[in-house]
Amino acid sequence: MSNGQSPDPTAVSLQCRCEERGSWFRVEDDEVLRWPVLEIAEWEELRECPVCARIWVQTWPEELESLPILCRPVPEASRRLKEIHRAPTMRPYCLARLGEHLGELKEQRLLCKKVDCERRRLQGSGYCLEHLIADRFGRNFAALGRETPIEEIDDGDPI
Ligand SMILES: [Zn+2]
Ligand SMILES: [Zn+2]
Repeated sequence: MSNGQSPDPTAVSLQCRCEERGSWFRVEDDEVLRWPVLEIAEWEELRECPVCARIWVQTWPEELESLPILCRPVPEASRRLKEIHRAPTMRPYCLARLGEHLGELKEQRLLCKKVDCERRRLQGSGYCLEHLIADRFGRNFAALGRETPIEEIDDGDPI
């Protein structure tokens, strides 16, 4: 009956999904929560995949979300929380979440409602992308103070 087609259980356990997970993912089972923790802080943990040794930042970006997310750190070689740049690390997640509400993140002709902001507001909103990120996720996650062209932020990461 068997043609030897059943997967080898040893081989399966040595695989991980880090590569396919892209720049962030939600914790959907507790396997990830058993990964070794390299460093722990109040709202962040640095975890290491036991299979491929990739480092991920575990964080709770929104107070109402009970489950954490894991983001690929920027720079990717970070081994300490203090080495991580928060805004670029969190950006793919922020863009995906805003996209869930606004659809495609597209700039309009009108300027952002915030006083002195010269960025264009996004379609479906009165504010620019950076002020939306600052308002929802915190100022330290937004690139306020420098221009971020819309072409650069839309990297098409899967949600
Ligand atoms: Zn891995
Ligand atoms: Zn603005």
